[in-house]
Amino acid sequence: MLYYKTQEEIELIRESSLLVAKTLAEVAKVIRPGITTLELDRVAESYIRDQGAVPAFLNYNGFPNTLCISVNSQVVHGIPGKTELKDGDICSVDCGVLKNGFYGDSAFTFGVGDVKDETMNLLRVTRESLEQGITFAIAGNRMGDVSAAIQQHAEASGYSVVREMVGHGIGRHLHEKPEVPNYGKRGAGMTLKEGLVIAIEPMINMGVKSIVHERDGWTVRTADNKPSAHFEHTVAVKKGTADILSSFVFVEEALKSNTNVKK
Ligand code: MG
Ligand code: MG
Repeated sequence: MLYYKTQEEIELIRESSLLVAKTLAEVAKVIRPGITTLELDRVAESYIRDQGAVPAFLNYNGFPNTLCISVNSQVVHGIPGKTELKDGDICSVDCGVLKNGFYGDSAFTFGVGDVKDETMNLLRVTRESLEQGITFAIAGNRMGDVSAAIQQHAEASGYSVVREMVGHGIGRHLHEKPEVPNYGKRGAGMTLKEGLVIAIEPMINMGVKSIVHERDGWTVRTADNKPSAHFEHTVAVKKGTADILSSFVFVEEALKSNTNVKK
Protein backbone atom coordinates (compact mmCIF):
# COMPACT_ATOMS: atom_id res chain seq x y z
CA MET A 1 0.00 0.00 0.00
CA LEU A 2 1.40 3.37 -1.07
CA TYR A 3 0.10 6.48 0.63
CA TYR A 4 0.27 9.68 -1.39
CA LYS A 5 0.01 12.74 0.84
CA THR A 6 -2.04 15.87 0.44
CA GLN A 7 -0.28 19.24 0.77
CA GLU A 8 -1.81 19.59 4.27
CA GLU A 9 -0.31 16.25 5.28
CA ILE A 10 3.04 17.21 3.78
CA GLU A 11 3.04 20.37 5.92
CA LEU A 12 2.50 18.24 9.03
CA ILE A 13 5.38 15.94 8.02
CA ARG A 14 7.47 19.09 7.49
CA GLU A 15 6.67 20.21 11.02
CA SER A 16 7.81 16.85 12.41
CA SER A 17 10.89 16.81 10.16
CA LEU A 18 11.92 20.32 11.24
CA LEU A 19 11.57 19.25 14.85
CA VAL A 20 13.97 16.41 14.08
CA ALA A 21 16.31 18.94 12.44
CA LYS A 22 16.25 21.11 15.57
CA THR A 23 16.77 18.09 17.80
CA LEU A 24 19.87 17.15 15.79
CA ALA A 25 21.03 20.76 16.32
CA GLU A 26 20.66 20.33 20.10
CA VAL A 27 22.94 17.30 19.79
CA ALA A 28 25.31 19.32 17.56
CA LYS A 29 25.68 21.93 20.32
CA VAL A 30 26.98 19.47 22.92
CA ILE A 31 28.70 16.65 21.02
CA ARG A 32 32.40 16.43 21.93
CA PRO A 33 35.05 13.95 22.98
CA GLY A 34 34.21 12.68 26.48
CA ILE A 35 30.43 12.88 26.24
CA THR A 36 28.56 9.60 26.37
CA THR A 37 26.08 8.65 23.69
CA LEU A 38 23.48 8.21 26.43
CA GLU A 39 23.94 11.90 27.39
CA LEU A 40 23.23 12.85 23.77
CA ASP A 41 20.12 10.68 23.88
CA ARG A 42 18.88 12.46 27.02
CA VAL A 43 19.37 15.87 25.38
CA ALA A 44 17.32 14.75 22.38
CA GLU A 45 14.53 13.11 24.36
CA SER A 46 13.92 16.08 26.64
CA TYR A 47 14.01 18.53 23.73
CA ILE A 48 11.46 16.48 21.75
CA ARG A 49 9.14 16.11 24.74
CA ASP A 50 9.43 19.84 25.54
CA GLN A 51 8.07 20.52 22.02
CA GLY A 52 5.03 18.35 22.71
CA ALA A 53 6.19 15.53 20.47
CA VAL A 54 7.13 11.89 20.99
CA PRO A 55 10.45 10.21 20.16
CA ALA A 56 9.65 7.88 17.26
CA PHE A 57 12.35 5.27 17.80
CA LEU A 58 11.79 4.79 21.54
CA ASN A 59 10.06 1.40 21.97
CA TYR A 60 9.83 0.94 18.18
CA ASN A 61 10.02 -2.86 17.92
CA GLY A 62 11.52 -2.65 21.40
CA PHE A 63 14.31 -0.16 20.61
CA PRO A 64 15.35 1.25 24.01
CA ASN A 65 16.21 4.89 23.21
CA THR A 66 15.32 8.12 21.40
CA LEU A 67 18.33 8.25 19.09
CA CYS A 68 20.14 5.63 17.08
CA ILE A 69 23.82 6.52 17.59
CA SER A 70 26.30 4.61 15.48
CA VAL A 71 30.02 5.24 16.02
CA ASN A 72 32.87 4.56 13.54
CA SER A 73 32.31 1.10 12.02
CA GLN A 74 28.74 0.97 13.30
CA VAL A 75 26.49 1.60 10.32
CA VAL A 76 23.06 2.23 11.88
CA HIS A 77 20.81 1.31 14.81
CA GLY A 78 23.49 1.75 17.48
CA ILE A 79 22.09 1.90 21.04
CA PRO A 80 23.12 4.91 23.16
CA GLY A 81 25.12 3.92 26.21
CA LYS A 82 27.81 4.81 28.71
CA THR A 83 30.71 4.67 26.27
CA GLU A 84 32.35 8.08 25.85
CA LEU A 85 33.00 9.46 22.40
CA LYS A 86 36.72 9.71 21.68
CA ASP A 87 38.76 12.26 19.79
CA GLY A 88 38.73 11.19 16.12
CA ASP A 89 35.44 9.25 16.22
CA ILE A 90 32.69 9.70 13.70
CA CYS A 91 29.19 9.51 15.10
CA SER A 92 25.97 9.02 13.14
CA VAL A 93 22.96 10.41 14.98
CA ASP A 94 19.60 9.27 13.60
CA CYS A 95 16.41 10.82 15.00
CA GLY A 96 12.70 10.43 14.42
CA VAL A 97 9.70 12.13 16.00
CA LEU A 98 5.95 11.77 15.96
CA LYS A 99 3.88 14.94 16.17
CA ASN A 100 0.26 15.60 15.15
CA GLY A 101 0.01 12.02 13.88
CA PHE A 102 2.93 12.31 11.44
CA TYR A 103 6.54 11.20 11.53
CA GLY A 104 9.78 12.95 10.54
CA ASP A 105 13.15 11.21 10.17
CA SER A 106 16.66 12.55 9.58
CA ALA A 107 20.26 11.64 10.33
CA PHE A 108 23.63 13.43 10.39
CA THR A 109 27.13 12.06 10.90
CA PHE A 110 29.43 14.21 13.05
CA GLY A 111 33.21 14.22 13.12
CA VAL A 112 34.15 14.30 16.82
CA GLY A 113 37.37 16.16 17.59
CA ASP A 114 40.32 15.72 15.26
CA VAL A 115 39.06 13.26 12.63
CA LYS A 116 41.38 12.00 9.88
CA ASP A 117 40.98 13.74 6.53
CA GLU A 118 40.25 10.46 4.76
CA THR A 119 37.39 9.82 7.18
CA MET A 120 36.02 13.35 6.75
CA ASN A 121 36.01 12.65 3.03
CA LEU A 122 33.71 9.67 3.62
CA LEU A 123 31.31 11.97 5.48
CA ARG A 124 31.45 14.59 2.73
CA VAL A 125 30.83 12.07 -0.05
CA THR A 126 27.98 10.38 1.85
CA ARG A 127 26.23 13.71 2.32
CA GLU A 128 26.79 14.57 -1.33
CA SER A 129 25.36 11.16 -2.31
CA LEU A 130 22.20 12.02 -0.38
CA GLU A 131 22.02 15.39 -2.13
CA GLN A 132 22.56 13.71 -5.52
CA GLY A 133 19.74 11.26 -4.80
CA ILE A 134 17.40 14.06 -3.75
CA THR A 135 17.87 15.91 -7.05
CA PHE A 136 16.24 12.91 -8.78
CA ALA A 137 13.30 12.64 -6.35
CA ILE A 138 10.91 14.46 -8.66
CA ALA A 139 7.61 13.46 -10.22
CA GLY A 140 8.01 11.41 -13.39
CA ASN A 141 11.41 9.97 -12.49
CA ARG A 142 11.88 6.37 -11.40
CA MET A 143 13.04 5.20 -8.00
CA GLY A 144 16.07 3.71 -9.74
CA ASP A 145 17.12 7.22 -10.80
CA VAL A 146 17.39 8.22 -7.13
CA SER A 147 19.16 4.99 -6.18
CA ALA A 148 21.63 5.05 -9.08
CA ALA A 149 22.59 8.67 -8.39
CA ILE A 150 23.47 7.80 -4.79
CA GLN A 151 25.39 4.67 -5.76
CA GLN A 152 27.33 6.28 -8.59
CA HIS A 153 28.48 9.20 -6.46
CA ALA A 154 29.60 6.96 -3.57
CA GLU A 155 31.34 4.39 -5.76
CA ALA A 156 33.10 7.08 -7.81
CA SER A 157 35.07 7.84 -4.63
CA GLY A 158 35.88 4.16 -4.08
CA TYR A 159 33.33 3.68 -1.33
CA SER A 160 30.67 0.98 -1.09
CA VAL A 161 26.92 1.08 -0.59
CA VAL A 162 25.18 -0.98 2.10
CA ARG A 163 22.55 -3.17 0.43
CA GLU A 164 20.60 -4.64 3.33
CA MET A 165 19.26 -1.37 4.73
CA VAL A 166 17.28 1.10 2.66
CA GLY A 167 15.29 4.31 2.91
CA HIS A 168 11.51 4.22 3.13
CA GLY A 169 8.20 5.93 2.71
CA ILE A 170 7.13 7.96 5.75
CA GLY A 171 3.96 9.63 6.99
CA ARG A 172 1.43 8.27 9.47
CA HIS A 173 3.89 5.40 9.90
CA LEU A 174 7.63 5.65 10.49
CA HIS A 175 8.30 3.06 7.80
CA GLU A 176 5.93 2.92 4.85
CA LYS A 177 6.26 1.64 1.33
CA PRO A 178 8.15 2.08 -0.92
CA GLU A 179 11.67 0.96 -0.14
CA VAL A 180 14.30 3.48 -1.23
CA PRO A 181 17.49 1.55 -2.04
CA ASN A 182 20.81 3.35 -2.20
CA TYR A 183 21.87 1.30 -5.22
CA GLY A 184 20.07 0.56 -8.46
CA LYS A 185 19.66 1.21 -12.15
CA ARG A 186 18.59 4.41 -13.79
CA GLY A 187 15.12 4.05 -15.35
CA ALA A 188 14.20 1.05 -13.19
CA GLY A 189 11.68 0.80 -10.37
CA MET A 190 8.44 2.58 -9.66
CA THR A 191 7.54 5.92 -11.17
CA LEU A 192 7.65 8.70 -8.57
CA LYS A 193 4.45 10.69 -8.24
CA GLU A 194 3.65 13.95 -6.53
CA GLY A 195 2.64 13.40 -2.89
CA LEU A 196 5.03 10.53 -2.25
CA VAL A 197 7.08 11.27 0.87
CA ILE A 198 10.28 9.28 1.37
CA ALA A 199 13.22 9.17 3.72
CA ILE A 200 16.39 8.93 1.63
CA GLU A 201 19.29 7.65 3.73
CA PRO A 202 22.53 6.44 2.15
CA MET A 203 24.73 4.29 4.38
CA ILE A 204 28.17 4.39 2.80
CA ASN A 205 31.18 2.30 3.85
CA MET A 206 34.85 3.13 3.42
CA GLY A 207 35.68 -0.54 2.85
CA VAL A 208 33.51 -3.51 1.91
CA LYS A 209 29.74 -3.19 1.53
CA SER A 210 28.93 -6.18 3.71
CA ILE A 211 27.64 -5.79 7.24
CA VAL A 212 27.30 -7.84 10.40
CA HIS A 213 24.85 -7.62 13.28
CA GLU A 214 26.17 -7.09 16.77
CA ARG A 215 24.92 -9.31 19.58
CA ASP A 216 22.78 -6.56 21.16
CA GLY A 217 20.16 -7.40 18.51
CA TRP A 218 20.22 -3.90 16.98
CA THR A 219 23.59 -2.52 16.04
CA VAL A 220 24.69 -3.00 12.45
CA ARG A 221 28.45 -2.82 11.82
CA THR A 222 30.72 -3.06 8.77
CA ALA A 223 32.10 -6.56 8.21
CA ASP A 224 35.68 -5.23 7.87
CA ASN A 225 35.37 -2.79 10.81
CA LYS A 226 36.16 0.19 8.58
CA PRO A 227 34.15 3.41 9.06
CA SER A 228 30.63 3.95 7.77
CA ALA A 229 28.67 7.20 7.38
CA HIS A 230 24.94 7.93 7.23
CA PHE A 231 22.97 11.02 6.24
CA GLU A 232 19.18 11.15 5.88
CA HIS A 233 16.51 13.61 4.80
CA THR A 234 12.72 13.30 4.65
CA VAL A 235 11.69 14.46 1.18
CA ALA A 236 8.38 15.08 -0.63
CA VAL A 237 8.25 14.28 -4.33
CA LYS A 238 6.98 17.21 -6.39
CA LYS A 239 7.03 18.30 -10.00
CA GLY A 240 10.24 20.03 -11.02
CA THR A 241 12.16 19.89 -7.74
CA ALA A 242 12.16 17.83 -4.57
CA ASP A 243 10.81 19.42 -1.40
CA ILE A 244 13.26 18.63 1.42
CA LEU A 245 11.13 18.57 4.59
CA SER A 246 13.97 18.09 7.09
CA SER A 247 17.01 20.39 7.16
CA PHE A 248 20.67 20.51 8.14
CA VAL A 249 20.59 24.32 8.48
CA PHE A 250 20.06 24.19 12.25
CA VAL A 251 22.87 21.66 12.69
CA GLU A 252 25.21 23.82 10.57
CA GLU A 253 24.35 26.86 12.66
CA ALA A 254 24.94 24.97 15.93
CA LEU A 255 28.26 23.57 14.70
CA LYS A 256 29.62 27.08 14.08
CA SER A 257 30.09 27.51 17.83
CA ASN A 258 31.17 23.93 18.59
CA THR A 259 34.95 23.74 18.17
CA ASN A 260 34.93 20.06 19.16
CA VAL A 261 33.39 19.03 15.85
CA LYS A 262 35.39 18.81 12.65
CA LYS A 263 33.70 20.46 9.67
MG1 MG B 1 16.43 7.77 10.38
MG1 MG C 1 14.81 6.40 8.09
